[in-house]
Amino acid sequence: MPPADPFDDDKLREECGVFGVVGVTDASNFVALGLHALQHRGQEAGGIVTHDVETGFSQQRRMGLVRDNFTSAAMMERLPGTIGIGHVRYSTAGSKGQTAMRDVQPFFGEFSMGGAAIAHNGNITNALSLRRELIERGSIFQSSSDSECIIHLMARSMGRNIPDRMEEALRKVEGAFSIVAMTRTKLIGCRDPLGVRPLVLGKIGDGWALASETCALDIIGAEFVREIEPGEMVVVTEKGVASHFPFRPNRARFCIFEHVYFSRPDSILGGRSVYETRENIGRELAKENPVDADLVCPVPDSGTPAAIGYSLESGIPYAMGIIRNQYMGRTFIEPTESIRNMGVRLKLNVNRALIKGKRVILVDDSVVRGTTSRKIKEMILDAGAAEVHFRIASPPTQWPCFYGVDTPQRDKLLAATMTEDEMRDHLGVDSLKFISLNGLYRAVGEAKGRDPNAPAYCDACFSGEYPVAPSDMIEQGFQAKTAAE
Ligand code: SF4
Repeated sequence: MPPADPFDDDKLREECGVFGVVGVTDASNFVALGLHALQHRGQEAGGIVTHDVETGFSQQRRMGLVRDNFTSAAMMERLPGTIGIGHVRYSTAGSKGQTAMRDVQPFFGEFSMGGAAIAHNGNITNALSLRRELIERGSIFQSSSDSECIIHLMARSMGRNIPDRMEEALRKVEGAFSIVAMTRTKLIGCRDPLGVRPLVLGKIGDGWALASETCALDIIGAEFVREIEPGEMVVVTEKGVASHFPFRPNRARFCIFEHVYFSRPDSILGGRSVYETRENIGRELAKENPVDADLVCPVPDSGTPAAIGYSLESGIPYAMGIIRNQYMGRTFIEPTESIRNMGVRLKLNVNRALIKGKRVILVDDSVVRGTTSRKIKEMILDAGAAEVHFRIASPPTQWPCFYGVDTPQRDKLLAATMTEDEMRDHLGVDSLKFISLNGLYRAVGEAKGRDPNAPAYCDACFSGEYPVAPSDMIEQGFQAKTAAE
């Protein structure tokens, strides 16, 4: 399957979004809406599982977008019940880059005490060794997804009920996991001990919802109650929420890149709107890296709040120098070679009248391979810009993510192979500057910046300091950061 569009090829991609609801009529409608709001977290495939007292468990999985699969009355009739969970996916483990139907979540398992479905956002860093061990002990895997390990571990547990079995299974799992699961009557949510990936709780009428982000609560009219805590497991029924802490206490290390790029700007993270944080990032970027120019332009859409912040801080006017074609979906045309070669022009167009003769600051959220940045720079120069200055709202991305974000191998990351000056020359721009890691920490609310002895966030893709050792990858030859680096 080709990438969702040629432009997205040069971005880190969030892997999955999860959603669940209990205690509502027609749960599947709520799940579909929630998944639709989380579509930015995964566009390759989606699935919904529900339970109804009369018909039992129902499940539907489809390739493609929620709006193309889970909107018809006929589909919703196949998913009856007052409890349901769902998942949208972009594959990071399993059949990477080419989702197979058997890897589409939620996964379902039948246990002696009843069925359970589970959907997972993140990445299990010891999945290979767990899988090997489970296969040796007789487990038969149906998919190539690391999340299936959890179902097999639950099957082997002696726990008396499904939440107990899930607790026991998750204690053996390492890495990043925000999980939404369900039994016939219980909705279960759990975050890994470091809380790397997000998970929030909402209230809707007499029912409850769990979601990767608050924007998915908004769409169904649910009230945001709170974030699930790192290392917390909640078991939610129509009667209320029971909270457990099954893991050894640990210092939280939420993914700092959620603030920069992955989460939707209208979501709330850590008590603040993502939009506001991104504007702060732009302000910090302007303080750290000023430059004389005529216009501040975002690379749409993800660079927009940071560009506004940069403009407010610097006093340089903000302008929409690049216009995004909102309707360039994957269904527009088959991406043949000649069309794909048009690359970023399919998605973005320069506002020539505005750009001609101007010194332009372009604000983008990140530089991954640098291929898109080069094309955008060419487009801006073709339109007659006098100077092009790139300002990047994240530090140089030098290391791959092993916690559920699709990253190229290290040698494909521009910042892993070049210095900042070399990158500037490679991109052919007048200047290139990144926000510092300390500046990013300040922008997300850590007034003193990053504490090197106890960082408040996961920032491994910038620092190379992995809060959970990526054991499977190390076994496969990944070279972790050395003391000298
Ligand atoms: S490595 Fe980067 S993208 Fe991955 S969880 Fe950590 S901060 Fe987020």
